[in-house]
Amino acid sequence: MKYEAVIGLEVHVQVRTKSKMFCSCANKFGAEPNTLVCPVCLGYPGTLPVPNREAVRKAIKAGLLTNCTIAKYSKFDRKSYFYPDLAKNYQISQFDLPFCENGFLQISGTGFSGAPLPEKKLGITRIHLEEDPAKLNHASGATGADYNRSGVPLIEIVGEPDLRSADEAYAYLTALKEIMRYGEISDCDMEKGQMRCDVNISLRPEGQKEFGVKIELKNLNSFRAVHRAIEYEYWRQSHILDEGGVIRQETRGWNDEAGESYLMRSKESAHDYRYFPDPDLMPFELSDEEIEKLRAELPELPEAMRKRFEESYQLSAYDAGVMTSDTALAAYFDAAAKLAKQPKLVANWISSELLRLFGETKTTLDVCKITPESLAQLTNLIADGKINGKIGKSVFEEMFATGDAPEKIIADKGLSQVSDSSAIASVVTDAINANPKQVGEYKAGNERVLQYLVGQVMKLSKGRANPQLVIAELKKQLG
Ligand code: ADP
Ligand code: ZN
Ligand code: MG
Repeated sequence: MKYEAVIGLEVHVQVRTKSKMFCSCANKFGAEPNTLVCPVCLGYPGTLPVPNREAVRKAIKAGLLTNCTIAKYSKFDRKSYFYPDLAKNYQISQFDLPFCENGFLQISGTGFSGAPLPEKKLGITRIHLEEDPAKLNHASGATGADYNRSGVPLIEIVGEPDLRSADEAYAYLTALKEIMRYGEISDCDMEKGQMRCDVNISLRPEGQKEFGVKIELKNLNSFRAVHRAIEYEYWRQSHILDEGGVIRQETRGWNDEAGESYLMRSKESAHDYRYFPDPDLMPFELSDEEIEKLRAELPELPEAMRKRFEESYQLSAYDAGVMTSDTALAAYFDAAAKLAKQPKLVANWISSELLRLFGETKTTLDVCKITPESLAQLTNLIADGKINGKIGKSVFEEMFATGDAPEKIIADKGLSQVSDSSAIASVVTDAINANPKQVGEYKAGNERVLQYLVGQVMKLSKGRANPQLVIAELKKQLG
């Protein structure tokens, strides 16, 4: 039988802040274990949590960026469970009144597998703010707990079961990561555990309305692993169903090396988290003005920026995609394009020359000596016919190495285009004398030879002759 996959993702994203969610310990990755801790994040009795305003603001911004409704009234709840990663034996989280609800993300384009994606809005059920538990390390044979992570602000983005394929899940995660990075909510570095994802997946016979029984997949440490795990689960579950078996609700892990999922625990023995409002924390009341103030601080999102680049700078969809592949690059392009007579040329020089030189010199935009102003000037010189593209390339390389303005380089090296008619006439005469065979062909009616002769003139002038004037002069001298 043919089955349709139904997939919903639960994504945890660490919020980038200076300090932790409820104490003043640093929110920092990579320190010596258990050095960024205090009585609050170690769960000592008698301590009191103080909410981090910046984390709250960023959680709300995450909701605004994903088209959520922001709650006017919100609160923190205690979620009780007993595990060594949780010193208080409860996690401060949000239960029935999260900060953000009913949002969506948009996907389109091509999926990870290369197949086209449907234009689709993928629902976001809610985004709530909570504290990250400690990190347990099982590497050494024993288990160690690192409380540096305990109390790091964490948002959980719960997605609707709207996804239908591994490609859609991959695209959803990619879009979500891009938005969180643009909005400076998080760096979303998966290797540092700043973005973590659980996948819920069920199958149903094609055409059936009701959802099937879902499996939850954990330990997915890359988007690629998510993609592979979904394809694997689709295969595994459809095989069971085809054999007449039933799917039982279970939590499974993903073994990326083996390329298969494995049973972690079957039907969660109906966890009772005994949620109740945290009596140590005041509920949050938000006014429309406060929400609108946060909305006004939001950056332009990549999707909107791509559209703007296509429309106001006449870029192709592909070029707009390259220019917005990175926040800093997008700002750089935007600054140069605003000053350029032909913004499209700016995009060309960035994607062909600048990115090539970054690759060759193993550098990035942070240390780039070419200012957006200089880049715009270079393209304007080309657009105005002051230099041609070939000379532009050597000027560009000089700009990259020295940071000098293009006009200075052109003046210093005498590279400007020759438009002086007597100078051009004399090079044209030289070229005609040096190529009697081609001149004969031209005179016999083969007009295509003209291009060859233009090339010869350009060569003799070391690329500096104004091509339009060269053509006119050639025609004149050849009669
Ligand atoms: P639970 O009660 O197990 O936590 P929820 O209804 O809260 O389940 O949903 C958790 C996640 O699972 C959400 O991301 C949701 O989209 C997804 N989900 C729910 N039901 C299904 C299903 N039948 N198939 C696939 N995903 C599902
Ligand atoms: Zn602390
Ligand atoms: Mg749930």
